[in-house]
Amino acid sequence: MGDLYGIECATCDYRIEVIEGVDMLYATHNVFYGRSDDPAQNRSTAFSERFYKDGKPLLPCLVEDERINDAAFRLLSEGATPDGHGHELYFCPKCNRLENRFYFKLKTAEAQYEPDYQCPICGTPLRRIRTKSGKNGQVLIVYKNNRRIDWKCPECGCNKLVYSDVFGMWD
Ligand SMILES: [Zn+2]
Ligand SMILES: [Zn+2]
Repeated sequence: MGDLYGIECATCDYRIEVIEGVDMLYATHNVFYGRSDDPAQNRSTAFSERFYKDGKPLLPCLVEDERINDAAFRLLSEGATPDGHGHELYFCPKCNRLENRFYFKLKTAEAQYEPDYQCPICGTPLRRIRTKSGKNGQVLIVYKNNRRIDWKCPECGCNKLVYSDVFGMWD
């Protein structure tokens, strides 16, 4: 089950529909190794058939970055094990863009791997963030360690984010 909600600049029309969490069909097996033999694990809900093919892992559809997929499948073939995954909100610390990306973690005996997504506009490494409700409908964004981000709209420079009217749940 995941969350779907919109956030937007209080001044201009910059907005993003945020997808967070894990869909039911994103069983670890489906994401990293392909379709499960158990039909109950393959129930398609918000996302349609195009998100998986028989016997194919979902990861390339979710990540859409060849470099990261190659790294992930190389590690998996070397015996790395998945250790958590889900849609998360990311942020470019240079140009302030907000981006939905698929987070995951792989562990090997010596190390762990997390995808190093880059801003599609300026190439700066994206950081994982989350949103918090502030006063008067304002949306605050914080790093995973709770440090507040001083966000400025990439389009107009306004520093106020608010929730927009798209709210939903998907499972
Ligand atoms: Zn704006
Ligand atoms: Zn950027």
